Amino acid sequence: MVNFLDLKSINAALRSELIEACTRVIDSGWYISGREVAAFEAEFAAYCGVKHCIGVANGLDALTLTIRAWKVLGRFKQGDEVIVPANTYIASILSITENGLVPVLVEPDDTTFNLCPTKLEGALTDRTRLILPVHLYGQICDMPAINEFAQKYGLLVLEDSAQAHGASVKGKKTGSWGSASAFSFYPGKNLGALGDAGAVTTDDDELAETIRALGNYGSKSKYNNIYKGVNSRLDELQAAMLRVKLGHLEKDTSVRRSIAAAYMAGIENQALKLPLEKSIDATSFLEHVWHLFVVRCQNRTAFQDHLRAKGVETLIHYPIPPHKQKAYAEWDELNFDITERMHAEVISLPIGPTMSMDDVSVVIDACNSFNGATVE
Ligand SMILES: *Cc1c(COP(=O)(O)O)cnc(C)c1O
Repeated sequence: MVNFLDLKSINAALRSELIEACTRVIDSGWYISGREVAAFEAEFAAYCGVKHCIGVANGLDALTLTIRAWKVLGRFKQGDEVIVPANTYIASILSITENGLVPVLVEPDDTTFNLCPTKLEGALTDRTRLILPVHLYGQICDMPAINEFAQKYGLLVLEDSAQAHGASVKGKKTGSWGSASAFSFYPGKNLGALGDAGAVTTDDDELAETIRALGNYGSKSKYNNIYKGVNSRLDELQAAMLRVKLGHLEKDTSVRRSIAAAYMAGIENQALKLPLEKSIDATSFLEHVWHLFVVRCQNRTAFQDHLRAKGVETLIHYPIPPHKQKAYAEWDELNFDITERMHAEVISLPIGPTMSMDDVSVVIDACNSFNGATVE
C-alpha cells in the first residue's frame, strides 16, 4: 500500500532529536511562553526573512488574530470587504467572517489554483480593505502583482501561508510578502508540529505587539488587560518540536521536489492534467513546495477507484467549495464555475519527505494504466 502521507515515518526518522527536545522542555520547569517559543520565533522569522514571528495556537488563530489586530488598530470597521479566492480551504474565510468583515470571493487562476491578479480589479469596491491570497497546495501566489495592486489602492495584504512554508518568488519567501502572513504547523503541513500550532510573521512592530497581546488575554504586561483578548499561545513543547522540524525543512522540501519532478516526467496519461509552476517573467516563476501534488481528472471517481485497486491512497482537497458549505448557506445561490469544476476534478497523489522512489514508481504506473476519458 502506498500511503497518502506517512506521518509516523516522518517523525520516527527524527525520533532521537524530538525526544531530546522534549526532555529539554520537561527538565526546564517552564511550559508556556519560555525559551523554546522565543527561540523558535526568532529562527522562523529569520527563515522567512522578516522582523517578527508571533507563535499562536493554530493556523486559523493566526489569520483571525491578525485581522482582529488590524481592527483594534483602526484599520478596519464592521462591513469592510476582504478579497479571497473562492476555492480556498474554509479557514481563510472563517477568519474574515469571525471578525465581522465581508469575504468577496473571486475565481482562482485555472492553472495555478491561486488568486489571479487580473481578477482583483473586478472585485474591488470602495469598501475593500484587505486582500487575502492563499498559497494553495504549496505554490506561492503571484505576490509581485498582488502587492502592486494592493499598493495602488492602499490595501493591506494577509498571506495564508499554511500550505507553503519556504515557497518563494524572486528570491523572497512566503511570510515576507504580505503586510502579515499566517502559518499553520498542523502535523500534516510541510512544517508540522506534533499537535496544533501556528504563527504570524510580519515586519510591522505595532501589529506584532497587538497580535501578541490579543493572544495573551489582551495583555501586554501581566494582569494589565487592554483588550478583551483570547488565549492563543504556541506551546513550549510544540515550539521545541518545531525547532527540530525547521532544521529539516529545506531537505524535506527538496525530497518533495524530486517526487514532483518524477511525477511530472513520468505521468503521461492524457486523462490527467498535471500541475504547473507558472512563470511570471523571463527569469521568475511561482515556486512550489509541493505540500500537495494535485492532478485533475474529469472522471475522478473512476480514477480514484483505479488507484485504490493498485494500492495507492489518494485524498480530495477539497470536495466542497466554501460557498456550497452549509455553514455559508447564505451563498448557496452563488456560482463560481472555475472553482466548482476544480472541486469536481482535483485529486491529490501521495507525496511526502519519507516516500520512497519505488513507491513513486508504483504511483506513476498506476496513473498511466488508468483508462479514462481525455481532458478536452
Ligand atoms: C491548514 C490550513 C489552515 C488552518 O490551519 P490550522 O492550524 O489547522 O488551524 C488555514 N488555511 C489553509 C489554507 C490551511 O491549509
